[in-house]
Amino acid sequence: MKAVRSMVLVSSDAESIALGANEVFSAFQQKIQDYGLSDEISISFISDIGHNSAAPLVIIYPEAVIYGPVKPDDVLDIVEEHLDKGHIVERKLVPAHELSEHLAWLSSRKGTLPAENRIVLKNVGLIDPENIEDYIALDGYQALGTVLGKTPAETIGIIKDSGLRGRGGAGFPTGLKWSFVAKTHIDKKYVVCNADESEPGTFKDRLVLEGDPHAIIEAMAIAAYAVGADEGYVYIRGEYGLAIERMKVAIKQAREYGLLGKNIFSSKFSFDLHVHAGAGAYICGEETALIESIEGKRGEPRSRPPYPTTFGLWGKPTLVNNVETLANIPAIIRNGADWYRSIGTPSSPGTKVYTILGNVNVTGLIEVPMGITLREVITIYAKGMKGGTFKMAQTGGSSGSIIPANLQDTPMDFDSFKTASVSLGSGALLICNQEICVVDLAKVLLNFFRFESCGKCNPCRIGCQKSFEILSNIAEGIGTLQDLEDLQMMADQLYELSNCGLGQTAGSPLKDILTYFHAEVESHIRLKVCPADTCPMSGKTIYQVGQEVKITREQGA
Ligand code: SF4
Repeated sequence: MKAVRSMVLVSSDAESIALGANEVFSAFQQKIQDYGLSDEISISFISDIGHNSAAPLVIIYPEAVIYGPVKPDDVLDIVEEHLDKGHIVERKLVPAHELSEHLAWLSSRKGTLPAENRIVLKNVGLIDPENIEDYIALDGYQALGTVLGKTPAETIGIIKDSGLRGRGGAGFPTGLKWSFVAKTHIDKKYVVCNADESEPGTFKDRLVLEGDPHAIIEAMAIAAYAVGADEGYVYIRGEYGLAIERMKVAIKQAREYGLLGKNIFSSKFSFDLHVHAGAGAYICGEETALIESIEGKRGEPRSRPPYPTTFGLWGKPTLVNNVETLANIPAIIRNGADWYRSIGTPSSPGTKVYTILGNVNVTGLIEVPMGITLREVITIYAKGMKGGTFKMAQTGGSSGSIIPANLQDTPMDFDSFKTASVSLGSGALLICNQEICVVDLAKVLLNFFRFESCGKCNPCRIGCQKSFEILSNIAEGIGTLQDLEDLQMMADQLYELSNCGLGQTAGSPLKDILTYFHAEVESHIRLKVCPADTCPMSGKTIYQVGQEVKITREQGA
């Protein structure tokens, strides 16, 4: 996929094919060529569109215009009017009342570039993060003043109504989590910001901490008021030196302005903050390991229950929220729950910040509404694939999922991904072309996990090491078919028996490559061929039952 100005997608479910989708596709190819638009417009099939009453459907991006049913005879009009002259062909639009929920949402965004919906990154790059007055000039600390005129229960009600879900990866409803801490009748409570962003390829929280630290302070103060806490910690990854410094400067300024400390805004509410720097352990991103680390202990996860909401820092009820989750709070209070719900999808309102990496033309950070698809991210924001066609994406850093091509039209929100048995994770999107080997990718991930496992429980400590060894053997050309069964068993047992999220998600890459790329893994074993020509076996001569075998990619072709 190269950088193009428009993308034409033709539905390819069974009904669409039966009703002529292949002919429509061919007609588009021909007309786009006739009009000399082949370099500007891509055409591809879209699978599992979830709607077929107007099949075959044709969706045109970036306008998100949906035509259907489209016949080969309609293609000339669409190419000439829409793709060449920029006029929508009204007579072929699917009536709004016939659109499925997701298609209606896509359609409603006509021409809207999600960057216009910045919430989390609103101030990043616009204000001087070391000058509190810049933040105040853009409505900063207004939300804190507003909630101090409400009751804590009313404040939690707004967050619940907004539908905000934790952006650390799990997607737990934020307002509900707040209510768990608020319900506890203990005088001392804490609020902790989890800024130990250590997923490989994820750097969204760093941008917020470095570019808009007062948004996190304001959000933590609002959360503290809502749950009844008077003290908080910002636990920042130790490698984030600039973020740590800027947060310390921001806390000092907030204290000087009376926005932290005793009797904030002359109310009875008091709250103060500390910065705690981590020491580089990936596991300290797990909330109970993080709490142990703040307490000065070795960063190992606790067994749960009890959960931090009732037994957290120094045994007190503790609210732990991720940076991105918190960065949404002031905007929700200022603009209201309904405003927030108008962005994203019904079950996952708001935006999501993604870091785009890998084989695409433009890498970097974007903030887009929940529910956008991977195909949209690649085509619109990343300006297309680089060095080959799309093969897979790894979402959410090492603990996410490996997504094959047939899922790139799945809306990226918590529930749609859960239904597709994939994980949204932290927001890293590693986009891979055909040159990336799935065995190699899984090996890199398991190598990471075997180093980062804290070693507290056997399934994770031994399972990560063994899985890495098996993958290494497969990559070296000395794997066996038994390895496939062993990898599946490792994936299952890591998930079922590990104590914390690290071990539970370490098996995901194994499960995903065996589910979506079984043939490619098997090719490494049966044919001794890495289809991507990446693994160490490529180009080697090995000996099999007394017979010399030269390893080349062509053998697998
Ligand atoms: Fe430690 Fe892994 Fe067990 Fe988590 S699952 S407690 S990281 S050994």
